[in-house]
Order: sequence, then C-alpha cells, then structure tokens
Amino acid sequence: MPSAHRSTLDLAARLGVHADRCRVVATRELSPSLREIALHGDPRLVGEPGRDVMVRVSDAERSTRRRYSVRWADASTHRFGLWVSVAHEGPGASWARQAVVGQPVDVVGPRGKIGLAANASWHLFVGDLTALAAAYRLAESIQVPGRALFVLEIADDADAVTAAFDPGLGVTGIFVDRRDRAPSDPTGLISALTAVELPPGDGHAYVFAEAGVSRAVRAALATRGLSAEAVSHKAYWRAGRHNADNGEPERD
Ligand SMILES: Cc1cc2nc3c(=O)[nH]c(=O)nc-3n(C[C@H](O)[C@H](O)[C@H](O)COP(=O)(O)OP(=O)(O)OC[C@H]3O[C@@H](n4cnc5c(N)ncnc54)[C@H](O)[C@@H]3O)c2cc1C
Repeated sequence: MPSAHRSTLDLAARLGVHADRCRVVATRELSPSLREIALHGDPRLVGEPGRDVMVRVSDAERSTRRRYSVRWADASTHRFGLWVSVAHEGPGASWARQAVVGQPVDVVGPRGKIGLAANASWHLFVGDLTALAAAYRLAESIQVPGRALFVLEIADDADAVTAAFDPGLGVTGIFVDRRDRAPSDPTGLISALTAVELPPGDGHAYVFAEAGVSRAVRAALATRGLSAEAVSHKAYWRAGRHNADNGEPERD
C-alpha cells in the first residue's frame, strides 16, 4: 500500500500521532443507520478505549477529515473497526455507505483524551448512535465485577444495536425512542436520565452526542448529583452544520 497523502503525514506529525494509508478489509450493516467498516493498518493508530481516528474523506469538491471512535482492535491482525452512522448526508456518511473491500483510506490517530475513569464504581454512557462505538469499547474495558449503564437515543427500533459483555459486568441498557423529535432535541434523553436508577457509590458519566444535546444532558446529570469532574463529554456533531475539517463541530 503506498504511503498516506502528504497532508495526512504532516497532520500526524503536527499532532504527534501516527498516520497510515489503511485498507478497507470488511464492511457490515449493523442496522439501517449504522455500518461497520473494518480497516487494516498500523496498529498504533487505535490507542486506548475511548480514542478515535481521523479519516480522510472527500465530497465532489474537496477532501476533509472526520473522526470516528475505534469500536474494536485486533493487534495480531492489524485490523480495527469503526461503527459509522450513515442515516444523514455528509462526506463521512457517504464514505462509509460506499466503502468497499480493498479501498484505501488515510487515517490519523490515535485522537482524543477521554478514557475510562478506572476508580469509578459505575459508568453511565449517554448519547446517540454515534456514541455506541466508544461506549461499548469503554464498557468492555471495565474491570469485573463492575457496572455499566447505557442511555442511548435511537430513531429506529432496528438501530438498537447491543454488544456482548463479560457476564461479570452488571449492565443496564435503555434505548430511548426519538419518535418524531429532532436529533437536536434533548427531551427524550433527559427524561430517561431523570428516571434511571443510579447505583450507589461514585459513578462516572460519558456523554457523546450532538452539541446542544450534550450541553443539556450535562445539566441533567448535574441535577442527578454528578459533579463536573465526574462527567467526560465530547460534542460529536452539530445539527444543521457540517463538522469542520478537523472532524469536530465548530464552536458556537
Ligand atoms: C471524537 C469524535 C468521535 C466520533 N465517533 C463517531 C463514531 O464512532 N461513529 C459515528 O457515526 N460518528 C462519530 N462521530 C461523529 C461524526 O464524526 C459526525 O457525525 C460527523 O459530522 C459526520 O460527518 P459527515 O461528513 O457524515 O457529516 P457533516 O458533513 O459533518 O454534516 C452534514 C450534515 O449532517 C448532519 N449530521 C452529522 N452527523 C450526524 C448524525 N450522526 N446524525 C444526524 N445528522 C448528522 C449535520 O448536522 C449536517 O447537517 C465522532 C465525532 C467526534 C468528534
């Protein structure tokens, strides 16, 4: 495989991380809105659970980059998987919809700072479909016996994609039906968060969602008694706006 585009190598050098021209080795429809893309490439790209990679994608006019959390990684085969939300129009979604085995793609990583709060006695993951990859990989890294709770909003019942965890992990999963609410409307997640029974002890929450939803969810978590330090959060996208070329939603 030829080496990555010059701009990819420069970006990785600037960020102090790795770059590789990866190859699509498998694709799988996980649900109507979620597609798994398995890539082969430098295993140093993937990092710890909670980390993501930057993928170089293009539309008709130009190239840009989008960030996707690593769902799984297999260091022995140099493969890793991404779970990409494909139910909207954007260069990232269209790359994932059209990805075929053998296709090259430039990847930079690992990116991100959020990891498992190892000392927490329970872990609460909140978000939408884009949160699944990071939430499930983080939950898989919880030492058993431990406790993971998921409060995830989906627009279609068929998108309730679950994962198999160690039987020693106590798991509570709530999929919130978005009904006809806009994806930027936090009402569904907030009412689920108001109702969910939180275990005793010091917990940690992880919020990966649309920018406005993330803000509202953090306020709801504060009312449930979680301090700011007990909440790791990242705005993944912003309703009605493209993410910027660095793969993140632009700030207000
Ligand atoms: C650190 C990080 C990790 C991420 N991990 C994942 C991941 O594992 N899986 C994943 O699917 N996404 C993930 N995302 C979110 C993903 O990068 C964004 O959704 C991104 O905007 C998709 O790019 P795009 O080119 O498809 O759409 P863009 O060009 O950014 O946006 C086009 C239009 O689609 C809308 N839009 C964008 N994303 C969505 C969405 N998910 N649902 C509905 N409308 C949308 C925008 O508001 C805009 O109107 C992550 C983002 C970050 C910052």
